[in-house]
Amino acid sequence: MSGVVGRLAPSPTGVLHLGNARSFLLAWLSVRAQGGQLLMRIEDLDGPRIRKGAEQECLQDLEWLGLDWDGPLVRQSERASHYDEALDRLLQQGQAYACTCSRKEVELAASAPHAGEEGPVYPGTCRNKNLPRETAEAAFRFLVPAGEVTFQDGLCGSCSVEVTKDLGDFVIYKRDGEAAYQLAVVVDDVAMGVTEVLRGDDLLTSAARQLQVGEALGYTMPRYVHVPLVVGEDGRRLAKRHGDTSLRAFREQGVSAETILGWLAWSCGLQNDASPCRAAELIDDFHIAKLPPKQVVWNGDLKAPMSWRG
Ligand code: GLU
Repeated sequence: MSGVVGRLAPSPTGVLHLGNARSFLLAWLSVRAQGGQLLMRIEDLDGPRIRKGAEQECLQDLEWLGLDWDGPLVRQSERASHYDEALDRLLQQGQAYACTCSRKEVELAASAPHAGEEGPVYPGTCRNKNLPRETAEAAFRFLVPAGEVTFQDGLCGSCSVEVTKDLGDFVIYKRDGEAAYQLAVVVDDVAMGVTEVLRGDDLLTSAARQLQVGEALGYTMPRYVHVPLVVGEDGRRLAKRHGDTSLRAFREQGVSAETILGWLAWSCGLQNDASPCRAAELIDDFHIAKLPPKQVVWNGDLKAPMSWRG
């Protein structure tokens, strides 16, 4: 067994559809092809968005596809003390601070409202207030160091992101007392010994944030591989508006896992057509370099010619 450790990190907020199934297949293949270990982490911190039963469904869907994992399952909802500890350290080091701004206040105070996709850049209102840790109703923000974060992505190559310009000091602990994704993911990847994070490229800019948080905590961070997403014919990320592409819906229509995998393998450059196949059959010839560097367009038909975007 090699020293590569990867992870699957589904959020039990929605269903497994062709898009996230493709990213999970790639994460699985990459680790299995390198003879590494693949861990399973359920990212169930997003309180109100968690859907009851979604965890079970997602795990069943992955098993149906033939994707397995090693070791016990980890749930973020059971790891609060680790996130607390990391927050304490960042606060002590002066690299995080309490913030009482409401969303509305951030929007009003920002010089360029709605600048990025993720909302306005936080103008730093609470940065120098030194609000105590115990402040009621406070969120906690990471004090983003100035300058660009440059890193080498396994697929996208050299990437530079300036977090201060994109987003500013971002939330690492939410007002409701739960760790935010950007902190939890860093703490967990390192605690689990993850060396390779392969996921959708919608998280490419998040990698820069995660690297900064990791650096502040003195962590050795994993290598990142961000893969292009599946989009609809309108160029937008696969969603309900593109029809039901959940694995569940296909299964209910009598579509086999092999048929889905055939389409996925084709879209990953691992087959020349959508011939049905099994996940395990794809391991031997897998190489991330075979992955077309473009978005896959879902055109509503598992047998139609594959089309690309970008
Ligand atoms: N839980 C996240 C998602 O399902 C993935 C986060 C990650 O891979 O870092 O979008």
